[in-house]
Amino acid sequence: MSSTSSEYVQKITKRSEDFAAWYNDVVLGAQLADYSPVRGMMVYRPYGYAIWENIQKLLDARFKATGVVNAYFPLLIPESLLRKEAEHVEGFNPQVAWVTHGGNEELEERLAVRPTSEAIIMQMYSKWVQSYRDLPILINQWNSVVRWELHTRLFLRTAEFLWQEGHTLHASAEEATERTLLMLEVYRSFLEEDLAIPVIPGRKTPSERFPGAAETYTVEALMGDGRALQSATSHDFADHFAKAFDITFLDKDGERKYGYTTSWGLSTRTIGGIIMVHGDDSGLIIPPKVAPIQVVVVPIWRSEEDKQKVLEHIDRIKEVLGDSFRLHIDLSEEKTPGWKFNEWELKGVPVRLEVGPRDVANSAVVLVRRDNRDKSQVPLNDLVVRLQQTLADIQQSLFDRAKQFRDEHTFECESVAQMLEVLDNKRGFIYAGWCGSDECEAAVKEETRATIRVVPLAQPEDPGTCIRCGNKAQVKVYFARAY
Ligand code: AMP
Repeated sequence: MSSTSSEYVQKITKRSEDFAAWYNDVVLGAQLADYSPVRGMMVYRPYGYAIWENIQKLLDARFKATGVVNAYFPLLIPESLLRKEAEHVEGFNPQVAWVTHGGNEELEERLAVRPTSEAIIMQMYSKWVQSYRDLPILINQWNSVVRWELHTRLFLRTAEFLWQEGHTLHASAEEATERTLLMLEVYRSFLEEDLAIPVIPGRKTPSERFPGAAETYTVEALMGDGRALQSATSHDFADHFAKAFDITFLDKDGERKYGYTTSWGLSTRTIGGIIMVHGDDSGLIIPPKVAPIQVVVVPIWRSEEDKQKVLEHIDRIKEVLGDSFRLHIDLSEEKTPGWKFNEWELKGVPVRLEVGPRDVANSAVVLVRRDNRDKSQVPLNDLVVRLQQTLADIQQSLFDRAKQFRDEHTFECESVAQMLEVLDNKRGFIYAGWCGSDECEAAVKEETRATIRVVPLAQPEDPGTCIRCGNKAQVKVYFARAY
């Protein structure tokens, strides 16, 4: 399939007809990404990468506001380091790619292409930390990791993905837990305020924990087809890695103690989340805060005389808007205005400004919203304020719409039969009681293909009964079929 031909732009599968085909058509057609010659690894095209750059900018600022700084660690991890934490290596082993040769020489020790960087970072922390004065360490890195995934989907699950991984080291268990929860809250607010994706923050069950973690927290979101997406995770390692890597420090009381560590990550998967939460039959709808182009100007003319007037008017518009917005003016002459409208709708630009001879005469523009297609004429004098208001309103409306969809697709169920009925017909989150046993969790997964996505932090006083065994529930959880 050619992803670059403009013809393709006109023909994406309808979201309502085939969600999976629609998703791929949007990713390729909007030129966010493309398949590469390497199985499971994709190319981030400029338009998709620009979304990632905006994500990086906003999230990085949120990290830094909590005292986090950036650094960079090596791509390759000696096997002996990866083996130091038993659960960690066991969990990641099936997904690790290995470097065995340097040039033609076989290496004495295999090197893992990092699937995540705990091992190498903990090794460095053990060297850097002597006393309580060296703590806490709050480091993040923006990088890519490789996990040999068997079933891959563009953005959602790739064998190499871009992400950030934060790794912190603390003097006490309480402080590490506090940091884990703080970063969960950073992800929640980022996803909800910047990506307009409503999420449920909470814990993973023990069977879904990150290998080596004492507790894994997650923010779970519901996609437009009723399946869940784990949108970021935050792990509390207690002293597991500190013990494995011998990270000790001399405390204020003169005693040598183990440190406590955390890690937390968000990947390019969230771009898949943006597509699946906000998109519609015409393509992408990108929340204004991360849209590479917030406002696109499309000129309309028939005669050469009109063209001159319209172009002069566009110069005035450019002047009025200055650099207040991420603006693109589509002056290409080989495409009709109608064609351009479709193309920029597919690319999800939040606001389109149409400029024709009538707008020149009125000293105005026609403003069209991507989210609800509302159209209005705006005098040039009001344009900056109107655009600011409109972009803020689109950002909020996208969130409200997604939240309403999630609420309408969350069902309280009391039996597995009821749950199956919902999963097969209506799709969405199942909110139900769970007794806490691995057996019931595994049985529900086996019978419904739905897993416990999250044990929400906010719990009701009485969680009722377990959806599987009918015994008293320990907690209320959200089940769903997931990406
Ligand atoms: P983890 O280190 O497994 O806790 O994952 C950290 C973040 O990366 C989570 O938000 C995951 O949703 C995301 N993630 C995990 N595996 C992949 C993958 N193969 N492709 C893209 N994102 C991933």
